[in-house]
Amino acid sequence: MKKNVRHTIIIPVYNEEAVINETYRRLTRVMESTGEPYELLFVNDGSRDRTAELIEGFAESDGCVKLLDFSRNFGHQIAITAGMDYARGEAIVIIDADLQDPPELIPLMIDKWKEGYEVVYAQRSKRKGETLFKKWTAAMFYRTLRALTEVNIPLDTGDFRLIDRKVCDAMRSVREKNRFVRGLVSWVGFRSTAIEYVREERFAGETKYPLKKMLRFSLDGITSFSHKPLKLATYLGFVISFASFIYLVVSVAQRLFNIGVVAGWSPLVACLLLLDGVVLIILGILGEYVGRIYDETKNRPLYILRNKQEVEEAKPEIEV
Ligand code: UDP
Ligand code: MG
Repeated sequence: MKKNVRHTIIIPVYNEEAVINETYRRLTRVMESTGEPYELLFVNDGSRDRTAELIEGFAESDGCVKLLDFSRNFGHQIAITAGMDYARGEAIVIIDADLQDPPELIPLMIDKWKEGYEVVYAQRSKRKGETLFKKWTAAMFYRTLRALTEVNIPLDTGDFRLIDRKVCDAMRSVREKNRFVRGLVSWVGFRSTAIEYVREERFAGETKYPLKKMLRFSLDGITSFSHKPLKLATYLGFVISFASFIYLVVSVAQRLFNIGVVAGWSPLVACLLLLDGVVLIILGILGEYVGRIYDETKNRPLYILRNKQEVEEAKPEIEV
């Protein structure tokens, strides 16, 4: 009973029981208005609350609702990836469950897609209801990333976007483990365009991106798309060697002409500590890359499913 699906909406959810009813209601209203067949593909990323039960409830009365249920929390980016593996639509939209990304934008994205664009991303012109810290760190992150990478990753753009079937298939062939989806979408290329929007406040509940996850996420972004941090060691090595050489010349001169006093231990200890700090930072950067290489070599699957609600017929064509 395979039904043709024109649009797939991928919604990663993690402990979203407070918003999921409203999200379902608004998405359904918007998608019904397009008059084309669609599926709402929820990916439950190991929620510990009633999120999965609620979605199963929707699926009972609504054939458009699909659920992929992870065996534990694998992370937002992996949840999106699983959604792409099982999506059957010709146009695929990725949207957060917390209604910070307004579903009402989807028909505009679909219009752009019909004009021939293969990626339509939503760029945040404003962010509402988020802490200054979050806004500031996010702005810094997108700009650092841009400065460090050669891939043209658009500024202030999250994962809220529409991608064409072709882009989705290309994404599925990229199986790296520490995934930074928005960067990969830029990396695979295709014709893209932006629409601007105001990022709303979270409808209910709390952010599922605490500082630790945010940090890991930004490190994934930078390490998967740039080797420049590794070169830091070389640059710093040159700068420090040069400075040390000048210092050496000055010291010898001081000794020869007997000017200046012997300064004692404090400057020595300060220099040592400073250099140790620099060495540890560089080791840390190396560690970030080595750890990721290790993750890749283990070759574990990206995610494990507990069960699939209504998605049997959408078996992925490639091994996951
Ligand atoms: N999310 C997820 N797994 C996680 C963390 C988040 O699937 O480990 C989902 C979450 O349910 C939401 C989306 O990813 O739909 C974005 O998360 P959130 O809104 O908490 O992030 P923020 O907007 O605060 O950056
Ligand atoms: Mg959010």
